[in-house]
Formats: sequence, C-alpha cells, structure tokens
Amino acid sequence: MADLPNMHDAEPIPESARQEIDRLLQSGDLFRYTAPEDAPVSLLEAEFAEMMGVKYALAVSSCSAALFLSLKSMGLPRGARVLIPAFTFAAVPSSIVHADCVPVLCEVDHSYRINLADFEARLDDVDAVMISHMRGHTSDMDRILELADARGLPVIEDAAHSLGTLWNGRKIGTLGRVGCFSFQSYKMINGGEGGILLTDDADLIARAVILSGAYEHNWKKHPVLHDAFSKWQNQLPLYNLRMSNLSAVVIRPQLAELDRRVRDGRRNHDHVAARIDQSPWITVPPSLPQEERAPDSLQFSLCDMTDGDVDAFVDTAKAMGVSIQVFGRSKDNARAFWNWGFLGPAPDLPKTRAMLSRACDCRLPARLTVAECDAVADVILSAIDHVMRPPVQALA
Ligand SMILES: *Cc1c(COP(=O)(O)O)cnc(C)c1O
Repeated sequence: MADLPNMHDAEPIPESARQEIDRLLQSGDLFRYTAPEDAPVSLLEAEFAEMMGVKYALAVSSCSAALFLSLKSMGLPRGARVLIPAFTFAAVPSSIVHADCVPVLCEVDHSYRINLADFEARLDDVDAVMISHMRGHTSDMDRILELADARGLPVIEDAAHSLGTLWNGRKIGTLGRVGCFSFQSYKMINGGEGGILLTDDADLIARAVILSGAYEHNWKKHPVLHDAFSKWQNQLPLYNLRMSNLSAVVIRPQLAELDRRVRDGRRNHDHVAARIDQSPWITVPPSLPQEERAPDSLQFSLCDMTDGDVDAFVDTAKAMGVSIQVFGRSKDNARAFWNWGFLGPAPDLPKTRAMLSRACDCRLPARLTVAECDAVADVILSAIDHVMRPPVQALA
C-alpha cells in the first residue's frame, strides 16, 4: 500500500512564471492600466477568451466579484430575484445580496444536480438564474437553458470549480449569457485569488469593464466594442475589483497545464470512484451522458447509515489519514444552506438537506499518482468496514 499523499498542497507554479515576476518586481509595473498595451492582465484576458472560444473576458479579483459584476452589468433592479441551486458555496448567495438582489433557492437531488421540477416551479417568480456547477457537477443544462430561454430569463453560470468541464462537447461557462470562473488556490488554476468573467454580449462587457474599475478612459485598453462605452461613460459606479498584474503572471503559464490537469484529475477521480462505488454503503453519483467532468475533488454519498455511523466514518477516516467532510454535518459548513444566516431563516428544502447530510467531500488533486489514489480508496473502504461491520466475536 502506497503512503498516503499530501492531499492539500497545490502544484508548484510553472517555472516560466519566475522571469515575468522578476520583470514586474524590477519595473514595479503591477497595475493593469499603467502600460499602454500588453499588460499581463490584458494578455490573460485575450488568452482565456481565445481558449474558451468567447468574444470577451474580464479578469477580476475573484469569482465572487465576477458573479456580482454579472448581476450589476445586466442592470437588474434592486430586489430582483435570482434563482440558485441550494447546493452551492456561501459566496454565491452573498454575491446576489451584495448586488441588492434576493437569492431564491431551489432543491438539489441526491445526484448533486438541480431538481428540475422544483427549478421549473420557481421560474415564473424570478428575474434571473445563476447556475452554480457546484464541485464541477453539471445539472441538465439543455433543459435549464430551454426553460430559462422560454421565459426570457438571463442565465449566469457560476463555473468557479468547473474549468475544463464539457457539456455536449461545449465548454462549461460558455453556455449562458455570462460565465464566471475562479483562480482561488483550490481551483483548477491557482492564482491565490482571482476570477474571470466571459461573455459574447458587447453591452454587458462594456458595463462590467467600467464597474470593475476602468475609470476615465482606461476602457480603451480593452479589446471590446468601443461604441458601447459612449452610453456608459461616467454613468456607472466603480467597484474597483480589478486583477493585479502579479496575479496574471502567476495564472498565465498555468493555462497550458489545464488539459493535463483535467485529464489527470478525471483519471484519479474515476479510479477512486470505481473502487469505492463497490461498497454497499457508498454511491458515487454518475455524470450525466452529456457531461465530461473535470474533477479535482471527490464527492460520494453514504447510504443506509445513521447520523452516528456517518460521524464515526468521518472520524475513522481522519484517524487513518484521510480528511473527509460531510457538507451537512461539519459545523458551520459554508456549503450547507441553513448556515447562510445572512439570508434570514433557512428555507424548507428537505431534498437538499437530506443529500447534504450524507454527501462526503474529499480533496483529490490531479497531481496524485494512481498508487496514491489507491491508498486513499483503501482508507475510505477500511473506514467504512470498520464502522459498518462490527468485529465478529471470537468463539470461546
Ligand atoms: C470557489 C467557488 C466560488 C467562489 O470563488 P472565489 O474566487 O473564491 O470568489 C463560487 N462558487 C463556487 C462553486 C466555488 O467553488
């Protein structure tokens, strides 16, 4: 059995970043709008837009900032209602509150995917939809886009943790009117902090660029449709959510690593998933047929176990060296909707609550070897055995 790997550290930043970092340190040129052209942030935007096959990209300080700017750039009025899945990270409803809008939560099934009946039932009462592809699990985007389009509702994709995922061969984050990604350290590309917003909508990007902090005529440094700006010059508040050049030079050389990370992450995930899925106490929700996942972590659900069994499993796995969180049972978990006290009393969402109380979350970085993944699977299976199969009494 291989030793247990370090499951928390990120990959080293590619060596090629050093030269650019040195150049920036020498010149002190850290602000994206100082250089007349080709600032690292601008180059990142151009490369990311090209890689994703969309017209416009705006790099910002976080994915949360990108989500907030998406809402603000659509001109949603104060109090507009935004539908989100109840299984997401607290930053998502937070971005909606920050934009003076009201999050409306819909049920998520044991599959970790949006319950479409509940989604549809709430659609007539909302002004926009924000689909969070939580932990890279994709809900039925064909149906979601069809239902939203039929009502003229804009769809924002929170693809923070889904970079590299495909849906019917199309890149996740490019299906809705806007897509937002994260470069926070636990995501596929690690800039420490950072985010990027993608859209093909010239007017939306014009507003987002100004709102993000392109004051005066700094918007002229963006390769976007400049006609759109005459309408918005001096008409929008500046939130100053820009990205620094230093972040961009750390992020840019990682774009070339993405395909490998996606491939290795999927290999690791599918290997462990296939092994632990053999246990009668575990199910790993399958991907949908339209979906090609890009996982850098592992989620699985415990079945037919009591709360006590679930907690004992988590403790046992931890003692054996693998840290697992059950979203709905670890204290103050930011992915359990009832902990979002800033929204007021928690809504009644029994399906999502039941799912979260049995859904396990375990990091599984792309850099692990298959042997290391086997060591992780061994621990998960041993911990389950330990908890669910009490030792047989020795015969006297
Ligand atoms: C990480 C994450 C976010 C927030 O991203 P930041 O860049 O840290 O703001 C939002 N949604 C999901 C699904 C995430 O995983």
